[in-house]
Amino acid sequence: MRPCGALAYTRGVCRVCLKRPEIPDERYGRCESCAANGRIAFRFRLGPRRDGTGLVVRAGELSPHALRQKWRDPLLSYSGRPADKPHLGLHEIELVTARDRLESVRLAHDLGPRADEAVAALRAAAERTDTAW
Ligand SMILES: [Zn+2]
Repeated sequence: MRPCGALAYTRGVCRVCLKRPEIPDERYGRCESCAANGRIAFRFRLGPRRDGTGLVVRAGELSPHALRQKWRDPLLSYSGRPADKPHLGLHEIELVTARDRLESVRLAHDLGPRADEAVAALRAAAERTDTAW
């Protein structure tokens, strides 16, 4: 997994459940329980679209190609309400996955009022076939 830019992770705490201690040097920064359950949090950073009509993915821990391959369909059928979380930095959004399932979407506080636009940006990103953002 390639870290995207200067994402600020809370050291020592599982990146998925944000509660239990992370296993040192674990590939996805997880605790034992999340690793055993195949849960992974993938983080993306959004930015304004050039034409000013919404949001677009600017960087991410998954390439557009990988996002499309695995998460396009789960994103299309996602009907949950993204949760606004304080651990995320400005414009950041996270997909919390459990094996092949999209468990939840977490948003930075600034994206809270724009949750629909943020999810739309991820769906649009999952239509892209590029190898990089
Ligand atoms: Zn965990």
